[in-house]
Amino acid sequence: MQCYDHVPPISLCEHINTEEYKEKIGDFLLVPSCLKCNGLLGDYKTRDYHSRLKHLMTKYQRRMFRFTKWTDEDVEELGATLRSLIEFEKVQRDELEERLSGVYRRFSSNMEFPKSVFKTKQT
Ligand SMILES: [Zn+2]
Repeated sequence: MQCYDHVPPISLCEHINTEEYKEKIGDFLLVPSCLKCNGLLGDYKTRDYHSRLKHLMTKYQRRMFRFTKWTDEDVEELGATLRSLIEFEKVQRDELEERLSGVYRRFSSNMEFPKSVFKTKQT
């Protein structure tokens, strides 16, 4: 499911001087995001798009480290139950790898996004 990440996060907006923000960082953005990335970002208190991507990258990289890399030889020696667990873990790992490469792609491209229209409080 597609949703949008607000950059900067809505929770920060009441603390932001919008004019200064636009001058120093740029427009308020609505960035297309999947639910998982959006959930991980939450109201993470960083203002610009690239910092938010970096935050996502770090989170996904940390998760990658949790996976054990099994060789085929290792797996062959295991019983059926363990093998199916490892298979399941592999599916999760592949999914995570795909997510991470998506973040890398976005990080290195200059994508343009629709501007946000939500209201902000002037400070
Ligand atoms: Zn995502």
